Amino acid sequence: MKGYNTKKRTLVTGGAGFLGSHLCERLLAEGNDVICLDNFFTGTKDNIAHLYENPHFEVMRHDVTFPLYVEVDEIYNLACPASPVHYQHDPVQTTKTSVHGAINMLGLAKRTKARIFQASTSEVYGDPEVHPQPENYWGRVNPIGPRSCYDEGKRCAETLFFDYQRQHGMDIKVARIFNTYGPRMHPNDGRVVSNFIVQALKNEPITLYGDGTQTRSFCYVDDLIEGFVRLMNMPAEFTGPVNLGNPGEFTMIELAEKIKVLTGSESELIHKPLPTDDPKQRQPNISLAKETMDWAPAVTLEQGLKSTIKYFEQLLRG
Ligand code: NAD
Ligand code: UDP
Ligand code: UDP
Repeated sequence: MKGYNTKKRTLVTGGAGFLGSHLCERLLAEGNDVICLDNFFTGTKDNIAHLYENPHFEVMRHDVTFPLYVEVDEIYNLACPASPVHYQHDPVQTTKTSVHGAINMLGLAKRTKARIFQASTSEVYGDPEVHPQPENYWGRVNPIGPRSCYDEGKRCAETLFFDYQRQHGMDIKVARIFNTYGPRMHPNDGRVVSNFIVQALKNEPITLYGDGTQTRSFCYVDDLIEGFVRLMNMPAEFTGPVNLGNPGEFTMIELAEKIKVLTGSESELIHKPLPTDDPKQRQPNISLAKETMDWAPAVTLEQGLKSTIKYFEQLLRG
């Protein structure tokens, strides 16, 4: 009916963060009505300022650990600090965000009959003995270490999602996200890609933690967001958990060398102590996403790093 809103009403929690801001952009482009909810702990208004003019974009300052009453059709639950520096800043709040946040958003989804997506993480596998990690691997997580607030919080959130699904017949989607990078990463959040690029651009020493032989697999943000949307649009029977990440595996030394070349930096590589419980290796097995959703990353590390470097160059120029 003309004059009435027939758009899908989509809530994105953590919408002002790195991944959330890209997701809001994508959902608006697809014609959704987007509510971007954030408490601005790690997210910033700069990430979403370019969306303010869109009448179908709405920003809400709110903390997901408190109940929320809005009417929506779909929920993407991304609220949670993601970098070790930020999630260890107030670990109790981190667990509350994952657990109370999941309960509130699941309660909201139950009442509104909305489909709900959870941004889970490869950290549910902990420091894995199975490599690469498939979804049916249960993980090796320290329950009492400095990373536990994040890892166990996210594991408990998954438990809640599957219990709400079994108990209340809810429509859930759970993505296990592996390390993702791209424009709008926080320059000071301590994550390896942002740290190395900023250090390289400033010709400051590049800080390898430990001997630098630990591995990670880096997915470019556009590929990941494509995976989010595909998962959300899968039939109700497909709940996940499903790994989303780029299987290309690199040591931190290789990453540092690549960034040095791409920035033309003169930075030297130096070593710093390895943080407690830092996983030794991580690589997603993405067969499930490939087979069920026909999804695989398309952006190479070199292409993705180039556009991320461009973003940080502009940011540092002010
Ligand atoms: P981010 O820190 O940029 O974004 C998180 C957002 O959540 C921020 O805008 C922050 O202000 C907001 N937030 C935090 N606590 C909140 C609360 N209590 N109430 C409301 N908002 C709150 O991080 P990101 O990289 O964009 O991560 C988004 C999600 O994806 C997180 O749930 C994270 O655990 C998950 N994830 C990310 C990665 C990655 O590599 N980026 C990997 C695995 C999982
Ligand atoms: N909740 C919310 N918004 C809603 C509905 C529920 O924030 O629209 C919260 C509510 O505060 C509750 C939580 O979600 O604590 C779980 O809701 P549920 O209905 O599962 O549990 P109950 O209300 O029975 O505790
Ligand atoms: N790392 C590093 N130097 C840095 C920041 C991180 O060598 O300046 C290492 C870190 O020890 C870890 C890897 O890079 O082994 C990825 O760290 P990040 O915090 O980005 O993600 P996570 O450990 O959560 O996968």
